[in-house]
Amino acid sequence: MRPFWLEQALVAESCAPCEPLAGDTRADVCIVGGGYTGLWTAIMLKEQNPELDVLLIEADICGAGASGRNGGCALSWSAKYFTLERLFGVEEAVRLVKESERSIHAIGTFCEQYAVDADYRLDGTLYTATNRAQCGSTDAVIAALERNGINSFSQRPVADVQRMAGSSKHLEGWFSPAAASVQPGKLVRGLRRVALQLGVRIHEHTAMTGLEEGRPAGIQTPNGTIRADRVVLAMNAWMARAFPQFERSVAIVSSDMLITEPRPDLLNEIGLTSGVTVLDSRIFVHYYHNTPDGRIMLGKGGNTFAYGGRMLPVFDQPSPYADLLRHSLSEFFPAFAEVKVEATWNGPSDRSVTGLPFFGQMSASGNVFYGFGYSGSGVGPCHMGGQILASMVQGLDNAWTRSPLINGPLGFFPPEPIRYLGSLMVRNAIRRKERAEDHGRPPRHLDVRLAKFAAAAGKADKG
Ligand SMILES: Cc1cc2nc3c(=O)[nH]c(=O)nc-3n(C[C@H](O)[C@H](O)[C@H](O)COP(=O)(O)OP(=O)(O)OC[C@H]3O[C@@H](n4cnc5c(N)ncnc54)[C@H](O)[C@@H]3O)c2cc1C
Repeated sequence: MRPFWLEQALVAESCAPCEPLAGDTRADVCIVGGGYTGLWTAIMLKEQNPELDVLLIEADICGAGASGRNGGCALSWSAKYFTLERLFGVEEAVRLVKESERSIHAIGTFCEQYAVDADYRLDGTLYTATNRAQCGSTDAVIAALERNGINSFSQRPVADVQRMAGSSKHLEGWFSPAAASVQPGKLVRGLRRVALQLGVRIHEHTAMTGLEEGRPAGIQTPNGTIRADRVVLAMNAWMARAFPQFERSVAIVSSDMLITEPRPDLLNEIGLTSGVTVLDSRIFVHYYHNTPDGRIMLGKGGNTFAYGGRMLPVFDQPSPYADLLRHSLSEFFPAFAEVKVEATWNGPSDRSVTGLPFFGQMSASGNVFYGFGYSGSGVGPCHMGGQILASMVQGLDNAWTRSPLINGPLGFFPPEPIRYLGSLMVRNAIRRKERAEDHGRPPRHLDVRLAKFAAAAGKADKG
């Protein structure tokens, strides 16, 4: 099953399919994975060095992974400031927050420059509270952003928040203009179109089945081997199974979402008329935005956990949490209670221990690079990932190649079955805690303590 966004993007596009690789070939750079990370890297390499022969292979079609099915909330790393500061120090944390905001704008500029119609709307984001317990939970990070001169958020009167967000469920709200919403499938297919236009060779339905280190490296596929001087592994959640050294660096967890039929009349009625993205302050956050054709898309993170980082069949099926999503939809928007849900879907997010992606180099010969672990927050940050990987591939000395983000995973989950059982224990504790808070009851002490394991990674992750 193709998720709604990708299906809609495929119907709208006129690009011919990219044929699978048939036979052996050679390239300066081979990129494995046709999502935002792989495609941004390919595009940046070609923009910076048009002579480079860049070849990208994708196991399915470009956008079949998280990039064609996410919530389309392009957010900065502001909410991750404390994690960034703890891991990397103030200076780098400040730089990364600024860069993450720059990426949001850069995606818009890119769409304009290459006429990519990805429904990009720079209408900001609202971080809200939907119960009393959540109220005030954003204050500390905003104060830290303010202290460091990088705060783009301002608190809005509750009435304004409720009007902008189209729901009286919100009890407080911080607005930042440095955020956008996109149609994620159109964005990734637009990136593919531009990559082709710039001369990137793309083979879809071409999975890497083996990697032979060396100079050049050998990338095996079912119908041919690619010899490449440099390799970029941009396989996101698939990295954990493909390379045993990464098995414990991420936990694979679903985010689930629904989209309604178009009802612009009702959107007008409730006031949700801009492309603002709205996120509450749960650990497994609710997130939503409207679409230019008058739908509401609503998602919720942290539902299905995959044992041993496996890609479960359910990730390619309608959401098993459709009833829960439907319930949330009518709680946020009573006017939409009877509106038809056009589709539900879900997908795998690669949640790292820190909630941040990590990048690195993994071969003795120094020519195989990787980046993943976006933790449900990659729409904007993958643009930074592209800059990092393009810089690493070219051996540049710049702020990206000097960043501690390129030091590989900064933590590991326990081995199975502990990771799986632990994840379920924490998830269930979070559910009990948030249910209690929704009903104005104090949560159990143990649930609060367990929930802290997940909260440590940071706010606004959609996985
Ligand atoms: C349901 C969901 C909702 C989300 N919502 C948001 C959101 O609202 N905002 C936000 O910022 N982030 C969100 N995210 C996260 C965001 O979508 C990801 O961080 C981002 O798309 C990662 O891009 P990527 O290119 O690294 O990975 P992907 O898009 O997953 O691309 C990896 C690609 O590698 C391919 N591949 C795997 N193995 C092989 C192989 N052996 N050979 C060749 N190709 C291979 C896969 O088929 C896939 O296409 C969400 C994620 C999910 C799953």
